[in-house]
Amino acid sequence: MNIHEYQAKELLAKFGISVPAGHPATSVEQAVAAAGKLPGPLYVVKAQIHAGGRGKGKFKELGADAKGGVRLADSAAAVQDHAKEMLGNTLVTIQTGDAGKQVNRLYVTDGVDIAEEYYLALLVDRATGRIAMIVSTEGGMSIEDVAHETPEKITTITIDPATGFMPHHGRSVAFALKLKGDLAKAAQKLARQLYEAFVALDCAMLEINPLVETKDGGLLVLDTKMSFDTNALFRHPDVEAMRDETEEDPMEVEASKHDLAYIKLDGDIGCMVNGAGLAMATMDIIKLNGAFPANFLDVGGGANREKVTAAFKIILSDPAVKGILVNIFGGIMRCDTIAEGIVAAAREVDLDVPLVVRLEGTKVQEGKDILANSGLPIIPAEDLGDAAQKIVAEVKQAA
Ligand code: ADP
Ligand code: MG
Repeated sequence: MNIHEYQAKELLAKFGISVPAGHPATSVEQAVAAAGKLPGPLYVVKAQIHAGGRGKGKFKELGADAKGGVRLADSAAAVQDHAKEMLGNTLVTIQTGDAGKQVNRLYVTDGVDIAEEYYLALLVDRATGRIAMIVSTEGGMSIEDVAHETPEKITTITIDPATGFMPHHGRSVAFALKLKGDLAKAAQKLARQLYEAFVALDCAMLEINPLVETKDGGLLVLDTKMSFDTNALFRHPDVEAMRDETEEDPMEVEASKHDLAYIKLDGDIGCMVNGAGLAMATMDIIKLNGAFPANFLDVGGGANREKVTAAFKIILSDPAVKGILVNIFGGIMRCDTIAEGIVAAAREVDLDVPLVVRLEGTKVQEGKDILANSGLPIIPAEDLGDAAQKIVAEVKQAA
């Protein structure tokens, strides 16, 4: 789960980390009021969307010369003008895709006199099973470009969970940023605070880009992106409350309400499978047969009629879906129960695309009989290969 920059900064501030003062705003009036609460005279108006690259982004509705999603303002009147232009319009950045994202919220924050911009991120490194800190002197720009063009300018420091954050980790961060004296001390302290916040909040990723050295010699978190391990969200109701569903794919939001693992993809064959491994195999074999899956959908081990119906509805609400492949292995959940669920769901949703079903496992014959006797045009399949061939052929024929 991702949150907005202003929310991430609120969380970091609780761990004693320095961030510029600022206030969120969802209307022009609120933006002006936010500026009134800041010392001025320099403000920055920042679009709050779950995507980076806002500074260099472009608003769809505005001309090519218009400014992007991070704008300096030298008066409250300028804040007002920017807010008017930005709110409600669609910002396209390298991370949003061509569709862009509508800006419904702004963050009005103190303008900072920047001396240097650095990069610092924490993530869970699955290869080492540790939290890694990625540090670079090349802040403010896309870290992917830095990694590509000048990989020597990126330092990775991994932290053993058994020892936790040690003073030498902090010194390595300061050294990688080429900082000396008080700034080096500030970097060591910040690195420790970030590590503590990362662990305490069960983060998946915490990126600061840029971390800035101010002209008066301090370190400030100027921009941050934070994402969380959803499996640990139950421990953090305050973080969960920060979820902004308007930033998420509506189908994925609906799926999560039914405890379904759903991810929208670009193809036209909807998949309903139990178990993540089987779902991956199903997607692979669809591709092997020359078509593309419209989604990944794992209904889980305890798939009942309600879940299967919800899954059908979600798949069918995607206009790209031209056919559905159900691939269920009846283990704990018996095939006859699943078949009843499929029949009931297919009736309830007025299925209007071809449906191929492959069942295997406990009570498979009973399951197949239920499908065959349902009177519905369900196409049965013998095995995974047969199922994929049939659904691909059906969809190609209909096209
Ligand atoms: P994004 O990464 O989405 O483009 P940032 O918050 O990193 O957004 O802003 C882009 C650039 O704008 C920063 O690298 C920095 O140079 C400048 N900037 C952002 N916030 C401020 C601020 N509060 N004061 C001064 N400059 C800022
Ligand atoms: Mg940034």
